[in-house]
Amino acid sequence: MDNLSRSTAIFIGFCLAVLLLVFLQVEDQTVSFIIKGIVIGGLAWIIYLYYQYLGEAGQNGSHSQQDDLENLTDLHSQYTIAQTHYASLQELIFSMVKAMNNEFEVGMYMINPTSQNFDLQNGTVADFEKTVSLNNTIVKKCIDHKTAATCHQKDYLDAWQEIFGNQNWRGSECVVGQTLSFKDKPVGLILVKSDHFSDINPKDQVIIEYLGDMVSLSMEELDSLEKSVAGNDNKLRILDLINELSFKQDEPMILNKFRHLIRSFFNYDCLTISSLNETNLKASIKLLDGIQTDLPQENEFNIHGTLHGLPYSENKIINELNWAEKYSNLARFKAGDTHDPEFKSILGIPVFIEDEIWGCIMIERSQPIRFTKDDEKIITLVARILGAAILWLNEYKKIYQDAIRDGLTGLLNHKTFMERALEEIERARRFQHHLVFLMYDLDKFKRVNDTLGHPYGDYVIKTTAQIMKDNVRTIDVVARYGGEEFAIVLVNTTQEMALIVAQRIVDTIANHQFSMGGDDIKMTISSGLCEYPNDSDQLSNLIEFADQCLYETKKGGGNGVTVYRDGKKISDDKTT
Ligand code: GH3
Ligand code: MG
Ligand code: MG
Repeated sequence: MDNLSRSTAIFIGFCLAVLLLVFLQVEDQTVSFIIKGIVIGGLAWIIYLYYQYLGEAGQNGSHSQQDDLENLTDLHSQYTIAQTHYASLQELIFSMVKAMNNEFEVGMYMINPTSQNFDLQNGTVADFEKTVSLNNTIVKKCIDHKTAATCHQKDYLDAWQEIFGNQNWRGSECVVGQTLSFKDKPVGLILVKSDHFSDINPKDQVIIEYLGDMVSLSMEELDSLEKSVAGNDNKLRILDLINELSFKQDEPMILNKFRHLIRSFFNYDCLTISSLNETNLKASIKLLDGIQTDLPQENEFNIHGTLHGLPYSENKIINELNWAEKYSNLARFKAGDTHDPEFKSILGIPVFIEDEIWGCIMIERSQPIRFTKDDEKIITLVARILGAAILWLNEYKKIYQDAIRDGLTGLLNHKTFMERALEEIERARRFQHHLVFLMYDLDKFKRVNDTLGHPYGDYVIKTTAQIMKDNVRTIDVVARYGGEEFAIVLVNTTQEMALIVAQRIVDTIANHQFSMGGDDIKMTISSGLCEYPNDSDQLSNLIEFADQCLYETKKGGGNGVTVYRDGKKISDDKTT
């Protein structure tokens, strides 16, 4: 992956990370630590982007007094939006450091090109001096260090005072500083101050370091962004798109956003976005916009021998005024195509995810109107952002899977079960279907833990989960509801049908020979069930009724099913 796509990936990664931090509870320490790192890195990058943009727009603003009013107003509103974003993003980065430890104070400095000092952009406390010289020994140490540098107040009395002023320092204060570099020159500085050095643990240091590295890396990439995109207008349009991307969206929705973006840049008669199939010999059409005749069957085409396969096989941008002349041996999608309508000018580009081709964007025009060099730059950028978006969509899916599933069994977790159950009720309401809620709890499970140990208990839970999965359809919702409790929603099923499934699970478990490490045991499970909408149309009631039935089974010695019917709990042997 080259520089720019990494920076967009970092940005999109950042969006994803915020999403995860805000909407999902990430319990895994390492994951949340990495995510925090991404958030900080991503934030710093955007901060720099806005910082630069504001600089430019500010300058433009002061020069544009003679410009027409409309232009000025437009510029002003863009400037105000960017300013607001800049301020709120800075707030966010500070709160991220605060999230590491509320006692930490953070100051962010950027180089002043005129004075060649570091000017404070913002700080969480007033302690940070407005301007710090590059000759300050703490600053120097930070600049010299490739990684985050730690400086203690007691070792840098004067330099400390220059940054934090004259106070009654105790000597235990310390600061972790990370310079931000651009083309190997220090251009910024992030200082995190703590009253006691022992508060800053190695993890925090790594985060700060990571933050600096990311910002520095992103600055280089930003430089290429600057070069690839002509004018702020385009830049903002692309930023808008990135801001809009949400990773809860699926691929078609994301591609549709790209369609809008590409349409705003280009006049075309047909836009095709395709992606490589697993065999690497064929590609599938993922999005089509414009004239849609002579499409390949099943939306698939061969990479070799086709125009649309060209960016894949040539592995580069294709820009032709009249493609049929240049590539007379190729068909558009398939040999024998009629070329009706005939497209003339084409601009095609491979889309990479990391270093591998994921797909291709192809723009076609019926008229021989050549795509320009600027068009090439813009489509290159769009392709890079698309690659990053798809990459993060895939990453998101993976992380999302981890967040919705129980780690031991791979079943849905409790929280997700509740959400899915509500969705199922809603769907059943619309389609007037029946649903059956089943609750299960292993009988005398504690004894397994107590006599054979926790790992054996885990094995029993996992095996039970597998039996549950094996006995329902893929459309049914199966969850680990609690420790050794399971919940199932059987979709579009009546009580009579469900009872057969419920009993089959109970029997399968009772007949299963649990065996691990030479210990063989038998287990039983208790079940209770009720039905939507006959017993209730409320999730809380349905769960409660199924749970009451389960308890009823337990009272009867376990190993059975109790059914909720007309407000009564009826055990299985009485229902048949
Ligand atoms: P009953 O027949 O009344 O259901 O009795 P029980 O012993 O099965 O029920 P109880 O709810 O008292 O005990 C459940 C135990 O499950 C308690 C807890 O230590 C254990 N447990 C919960 N989660 C796990 C897990 O992930 N792995 C293991 N090995 N044990 C777990
Ligand atoms: Mg139990
Ligand atoms: Mg239990």
